[in-house]
Amino acid sequence: MAGPFRAEIAGGGICGLATAAALARAGWRVRVHERQSALRTIGAGLYIWENGLRVLEVLGCYDAVIRDGHRGSVFEIRDCDGGIVDPGHLPPSMRVYTVPREWVLGGLRGAAVAAGAEIEVSSQAVGASEEGRLDLADGRRLEADLVIGAEGVRSRVRDSLGLLRVDDTTAEGSIRLIVPIRDDDFSDADRGKYIEQWAGHRRLLITPINRRETYLAFSALDSDPGCRLPLDRDDWKAAFPMWSHLIDRVTDDMGHWDVYSIIKLKAWSVGHVAVIGDAAHAQPPNLGQGAGMAMQNALALAHLLDGIRDRSEIPARLRAWEASERPIVEHCQKYSALYGEVIHMPEMLRRRAFAAGMNDPWLSAQFFKPALHHPTGCP
Ligand SMILES: Cc1cc2nc3c(=O)[nH]c(=O)nc-3n(C[C@H](O)[C@H](O)[C@H](O)COP(=O)(O)OP(=O)(O)OC[C@H]3O[C@@H](n4cnc5c(N)ncnc54)[C@H](O)[C@@H]3O)c2cc1C
Repeated sequence: MAGPFRAEIAGGGICGLATAAALARAGWRVRVHERQSALRTIGAGLYIWENGLRVLEVLGCYDAVIRDGHRGSVFEIRDCDGGIVDPGHLPPSMRVYTVPREWVLGGLRGAAVAAGAEIEVSSQAVGASEEGRLDLADGRRLEADLVIGAEGVRSRVRDSLGLLRVDDTTAEGSIRLIVPIRDDDFSDADRGKYIEQWAGHRRLLITPINRRETYLAFSALDSDPGCRLPLDRDDWKAAFPMWSHLIDRVTDDMGHWDVYSIIKLKAWSVGHVAVIGDAAHAQPPNLGQGAGMAMQNALALAHLLDGIRDRSEIPARLRAWEASERPIVEHCQKYSALYGEVIHMPEMLRRRAFAAGMNDPWLSAQFFKPALHHPTGCP
């Protein structure tokens, strides 16, 4: 590379940090701007599938992220009585780990800093210009070869350039939190399984994330009183009595409620500005791939910019990046949204839909396609 070229990145979440690590490792001078006073994430878990794990390996932070996280082999879907609707045996060739989100953020931060990236906190982006200028709330105007908008669903960089095409939310959302676990919390048959249990229009996702903690996601339609914080333990225990012992461990200060966003852009870049992560392609979490797609796109971006001799080559490389990566991201968005539709079904129909859908090799291949995708830039 003829550089070093300079990148200014708005947003210090999973995507901004992964992009910083990938570009800095490729020889770019990189600075991340995070509007919060510290790099911070909510107390929840994160699924990282084969595609995302490969990216972490390339970025050099696999061990820092995974630590003693949980490797899953079964994602079981159950009905309201606890009956197994789909046993969810995952293909052994496809790894999935679940870990606390803060490990992901910490591991990516470490990789970015080790590669030479700077991180500025309390630094809020307010816009950008396509020539490659990032505008900050404190009045600074920073010139760069590449500006990245990675500030999540409400990206100011994206909106200042008029790139938004779809900004939607689903009718479903969830309260996410982490509780401590004890040895006798799970029967031998259940220990280590991911369990998604349905009750009417609610579902409870139980996700081991290490030997000490389990991540719980209480999902419901946003019209459901069960969405309110603090979590109404009695109400949720009535829906899922077999998990009362875990629900009882939720305290009033725990939990974060989110509805699910769907974001699509007219284009992922304009001139010297690229938009990435939830800012460009937020999706419902049903395939557990929003962060996976963000990290794989970050690596692809650095890979497809490799070898440029002059900053004038950047806009065409960004268009090539979008052409290469957008199809798998849109596939993932589509099937993640499709999975979410089952919440509207009556219990009996949902049971049949799962039984038929999960046993259909073509349909299950569509659901696993993102996880089995070989990320651009991975050996
Ligand atoms: C319920 C739920 C469960 C999920 N589970 C999974 C899962 O298991 N696996 C998975 O892969 N994905 C999952 N996802 C998706 C995943 O959380 C997101 O795709 C991922 O966090 C996106 O990262 P990001 O960095 O693009 O955005 P964000 O995580 O939103 O980070 C954006 C960062 O930018 C900062 N920021 C915002 N505005 C500005 C500004 N103007 N200037 C500077 N900084 C700014 C924010 O403070 C934040 O730090 C889930 C999502 C939901 C809602």
